[in-house]
Amino acid sequence: MADSDREHVWHPYAAVPSPTPAHVVSRAEGVRLTLADGRELVDGMSSWWAAVHGYNHPRLNRALRDQLEDMAHVMFGGLTHEPAVRLARTLATMTGLPKVFLADSGSVAVEVAIKMAFQFTGRSRLLTVRGGYHGDTFGAMAVCDPVGGMHHLFSGALPRHVFADRPPAVLDGGYLAHLDETVARHACELAAIIVEPVVQGAGGMHFYHPAYLRRLRELADEYGVLLIADEIATGFGRTGELFGCDHAGVRPDIMCLGKALTGGYMSMAATLCTERVAKGVGVLMHGPTFMGNPLAAAVASASLELLGERPWREEVKRIEAGLAEGLAEAARAPGVREVRVLGAIGVIETHEPVDVSKIQDIVIGHGVWLRPFNRLIYTMPPYSIGDDLETITTAMTAAARSLGSA
Ligand code: PMP
Repeated sequence: MADSDREHVWHPYAAVPSPTPAHVVSRAEGVRLTLADGRELVDGMSSWWAAVHGYNHPRLNRALRDQLEDMAHVMFGGLTHEPAVRLARTLATMTGLPKVFLADSGSVAVEVAIKMAFQFTGRSRLLTVRGGYHGDTFGAMAVCDPVGGMHHLFSGALPRHVFADRPPAVLDGGYLAHLDETVARHACELAAIIVEPVVQGAGGMHFYHPAYLRRLRELADEYGVLLIADEIATGFGRTGELFGCDHAGVRPDIMCLGKALTGGYMSMAATLCTERVAKGVGVLMHGPTFMGNPLAAAVASASLELLGERPWREEVKRIEAGLAEGLAEAARAPGVREVRVLGAIGVIETHEPVDVSKIQDIVIGHGVWLRPFNRLIYTMPPYSIGDDLETITTAMTAAARSLGSA
């Protein structure tokens, strides 16, 4: 099967055939992935932030099965259904943002947020910060980091937005002044400011001080610009608060959710906004074929219910403490620039880009699945990881120790 995969299948950010074969997974259960050759790996990735409850969860399975008996999908133009309405109601209550657009992936949710801002303001320029990541579609790509992102490949086709510097981890008056100045200079042409709150994910797993988010909220209010919070990675408890914005006590005008929304089961995302924005937008010009998909909506509602029941705050705190302790030794390895932990996110940043295959071989040897990139060996395990966290930190430490050796 691996040979056919190499021959025919595109993988994320890869060529076909891929120089490195993908590992074949035959089963996923709890916090473990079983490979086709029988090896079992503890999952350190939650399938890219999504599977917060672990895999093959009986409650999520049941929600999906029950919904399937009624309907898998119907068009959302002119029709509606209980799973979508129930999910929208729950999300509105959780976020305080009452108007909900159910999109079919995170990138699309970002496109929709951008459209909302453009339609609301009649303007079409955005301000963001360097080091961000918002998705792979064109609107989203244009606000990804201009150096680390894909701007160089598609520069002729991307709109040019305004980039402030990457927000620092610590409080810095100079940076606040830089934000003030950058927003003021461009305010009259801006529709919105778009950022990932507190944690920049795929743009470098960077954590920044919540004061900057607070200042962006103030600046947006002062200049009549909208604030879009891309909570696709940070949402649903991952950073220790329910949403990244909660670290700053800020409510955005528009919020994007995805990834953990369905507990990692189906592709679904949401763009939410205030009453005022929805009124100003009027007819929103977007409508995907699989909008509001009942299966995805049903499993999302079940996942949010489960989140409400599980002590996720304590679990994330415990993971945070376990990561800090378990990765402390890695910080002393010569190839390591920094170890940082926030909520259920643990990051080893290296001095040099890592050899992904080599690091993967090491962590797989320790019974762990991770997907390092660039100068980052990182984990965001399922909240249900329990004692298996130590297996992950041990594997990461071994990987860090190997850096710089042949
Ligand atoms: N925004 C953020 C912050 C993300 O982390 C991602 C996915 N990595 C996206 C948007 C895009 O989501 P999707 O991959 O579902 O299109």
